[in-house]
Amino acid sequence: MQAFTYSANPAHIVFGAGSSKSVADEVRRLGGNRALVLCTPSQEENARLINAQLGELAGGVFSGAVMHTPLEITRQAIDVYERTGADCLVAFGGGSTIGLGKAVAHRTNAVQIAVATTYAGSEVTPILGETENGVKTTVRDASILPDAVFYDPELTVDLPVSTSVTSGLNAMAHAIEGLYARDRNPITTLMALEGVQSLKEALPIIADRPNNVDARSNALYGAWLCGNVLGSVGMALHHKLCHTLGGSFGLPHAETHAILLPHTTAYNARLAADVLAPAAKLFGDDLAGGLYDFAESIGAPLALKELGLAEANLDRAADLAMKNAYWNPRTLERGAIRGLLQCAWSGDRPG
Ligand code: NAD
Repeated sequence: MQAFTYSANPAHIVFGAGSSKSVADEVRRLGGNRALVLCTPSQEENARLINAQLGELAGGVFSGAVMHTPLEITRQAIDVYERTGADCLVAFGGGSTIGLGKAVAHRTNAVQIAVATTYAGSEVTPILGETENGVKTTVRDASILPDAVFYDPELTVDLPVSTSVTSGLNAMAHAIEGLYARDRNPITTLMALEGVQSLKEALPIIADRPNNVDARSNALYGAWLCGNVLGSVGMALHHKLCHTLGGSFGLPHAETHAILLPHTTAYNARLAADVLAPAAKLFGDDLAGGLYDFAESIGAPLALKELGLAEANLDRAADLAMKNAYWNPRTLERGAIRGLLQCAWSGDRPG
């Protein structure tokens, strides 16, 4: 076994069907007196139910969360937080809402509770990505971690199948990159493998029967584990490419992860073969091809062109991917990365 250093992120997790009914207990346990519920516009109705359940602790709902945590929305939310006299935030939603909760708490020291309703994993990472004037910056600090996290599968049965499968593949991508991370350790490897296995079992059932609470539960369990991996070790080519395509070409987060995962896995497959072997076993030994077939079988998008990316942008995307040096199991080779992007753009099976 290779030597390792491991600092676990502190977490208070409340998991289970119906568990979100006890958000008020958690606000009290953490010393909060008034909680502002955050959500995206489309989740406002359910956020209002959470607000109602808070009873005397209810501080209202701010429903302006959007993707990529723009600073102007954070400022609006801080204004509402201060006007309502809140001292606690309940971020009810996926990565966009949880990002807003982190951004507000980072500036106000609010008590922060996340009720996760997608599989993106942000709720258990000390990472905050924000955008201002189209420029994305990322901060990593232990203080960014939410103080408590709820995983209630009943809140995820309405997550559309298309979002469920792409978000689930987004979670798997954290785990796959975690398996070959330079700073991996035996615990993150255990979490990554268990996370991938749970999502591999759950997503086909969800694609077929979206309101199956057992499968939703299994998927959230996998998402929690994969999110932990993202929050614990460094990511490589896959996450950097998704970051580039999202930031520079406006591509949607989960879909981009879902499409690129088989291709970035193929890029690294030979040099990370030993550490990827246990995951490869789950997908029929050829991990990259197996991930592609799996994504296809659950109806995930397979081609970047489906997301509206122009083929003419692939050269610039390859240049941007080479721009900032970062560690990856295989050296970054512009020609091979350009080839990877072409394959992902067309939606071809890797290899
Ligand atoms: P999202 O939060 O934008 O949600 C996608 C859509 O699904 C939204 O319209 C939302 O309203 C809807 N939705 C969410 N849960 C639902 C539910 N249960 N039922 C019905 N609709 C629901 O998408 P996401 O993929 O979860 O998050 C993406 C964002 O999170 C990106 O900005 C990404 O950069 C960030 N992120 C950050 C981290 C981190 O560690 N900092 C990790 C992962 C993702």
